[in-house]
Formats: sequence, C-alpha cells, structure tokens
Amino acid sequence: MEQKNHAEESEDKILVHVLGTTSYSSKIPFFPSFILEYGGKYAIVDPTTKLQAALWQLERVSGKKITVAEIDTAILSHIHSDHAAGMIDLSIAKLYVERRKGEDRCRFVGVPEVLKVCEDKVITGTLEYTFNQEMQEVQNDVHNIFRQVPLEPDKPCEVDKIDEENVLIVTARQGQHAVRGGSYGFIFTYRGVSVGYSGDTALGKDGRGLLSFIEDSDMYIHEAGGVCVAGHVPMKTLEELVDTERKDRLKVIHYNDHQISRKRLPLLMPWVSYEVSKKGIRSLPITQEGAKELEKYGFDISGIEIEQPK
Ligand SMILES: [Zn+2]
Ligand SMILES: [Zn+2]
Repeated sequence: MEQKNHAEESEDKILVHVLGTTSYSSKIPFFPSFILEYGGKYAIVDPTTKLQAALWQLERVSGKKITVAEIDTAILSHIHSDHAAGMIDLSIAKLYVERRKGEDRCRFVGVPEVLKVCEDKVITGTLEYTFNQEMQEVQNDVHNIFRQVPLEPDKPCEVDKIDEENVLIVTARQGQHAVRGGSYGFIFTYRGVSVGYSGDTALGKDGRGLLSFIEDSDMYIHEAGGVCVAGHVPMKTLEELVDTERKDRLKVIHYNDHQISRKRLPLLMPWVSYEVSKKGIRSLPITQEGAKELEKYGFDISGIEIEQPK
C-alpha cells in the first residue's frame, strides 16, 4: 500500500467532523451539528441531542474518535431545540463528570442574547429541577458551567488564541428567523482558512440572506430546512441563488430525507470528516461499515475513499 506523505501536509486547515444534518422529520437521528478541528483543538457548533451517541457514530463511520471532554468550545447559533438541546448534555458532562472550574471551563460562544436565553431557559430550566435542596450549591453553579465568550455581530472575535499565529476567529451575523434571542450565522477562520455557516435563516429583504455573508468562505454550510416552515430557505430556492463558481465549496445542511437522493446540491454528510484548506474541500476516508451506513440512508458516496481493512 502506498504511504501518504505527511511531510507535505499543511497546518493551514480546518477539519469539519459532522455529527448531524437533519431536522425533526428525518430518519437520520441527529440534528444539524458539527465539530471544528483546528490546531488539534475541538469546537462544537450547535450541539445535537444524544451527543455521546453522535460521537460514537462519527467514530464508526469516519474512524475519528472525539470525546466530550476534548470539546472545550461550544458555539450556538440560536436556541431552537434542534440546535441548542445538546447544550444540556454538554453542561451535565462539564459540570458533573469533568467538574471543570475557572479558566478550564468550556467556552460558550454566541451573541449575548442567545447565551442568556440558553442559560436561563434551556440549561437552568432543566438542571435546577434535577436536584433537591441539599444540592443548592450545585444549583448555584449552573451559571458558571461555561466561560462565556460574547460575540458582537459583524465584529471578528478571537475566540481561541493558541498563540500569536494560531487563533480561531469567529464572526457572527444575524439571520432572519423567528426565535427569541435571534439566530446567527458564523464565519470561522483559522490560519486564513474559513468555514461559513448560515445557522437557520430566511432570505430577508435582499433575497440572499446570509448566503452573501458566508459564500466567500473556503467551505460554506447553508441550511435548506424550508419547505413550508417560515425562517428557512427551501432547497430549490438555494439552488437558484448559488453562484455556479462557488458551488463546489457549498455543503447543504438541515435537509429532509427525500432530498438525499435528489443530488440537487452537495449535501453535508452525517458522520463524515471534511478537510478544508486553500486547496479546496476533501472528504476524508470512511470505514467500510460507515460506507454501508451512509448508503443505507441513500447517500451517494462515490466521491469518498473507503478504508481497506489492515
Ligand atoms: Zn431554528
Ligand atoms: Zn433548525
């Protein structure tokens, strides 16, 4: 077997490990959610419910093992439960299992309104009824589980500064979506490589919505969750809007089962890892078991390398 030349591999890349891609009416069991890997670190975007199961599924399909403890940044677009409910899983792991304190706490990144509504309603609402009076001290910790990193819309924020040259920068922009606290799309940049994500958004007045914000990224992930639900973009509309020159950098998320086999636009595949660099997007090899799993859901895996057993 031919050996890959690792010496040529550049550090100027972001890996995108996909945990989930769909919404409530799908056979695929996990919501829109992915982990960014940069400089050996992990940031989860819109944590899905059943987070442990999603990580296990990622390991089965792509061979990539990530533990909850290794995730030290969580980035949230908005508080709808298909995007934010996994914050409960994450908060329980960080507070009771890992018992993180001070600067060691997991970052919680988003605009202040989203962070506040999520902490007050989603996380506290669940955890404060979990324990009895003797656990008062634990209850008081609920607002200290995460280290908040507030984002100011349209202003790049240095979220994780490993050193002067290696910094994860996040820029947020508000989309149009009916939800308390607002919904935001993001551009994540690391060593000049960028990944854009629309979050949930309608097109708004200019008819292009957050597409104009994210489409210059080296990879841009846009939702297509709208058939009849307000606040989303239908797949067909997205197809008409996408610039043909930029189409190979697009990956669609938040799609429904019937869209998997239609091949209208390139879909972000669940449990697959993508490498994003200035050279383009490359899906990393998947396991034989993973290939069977993806085909079961109807995905076209013809462009993905399948690992041969050693
Ligand atoms: Zn939503
Ligand atoms: Zn959604």
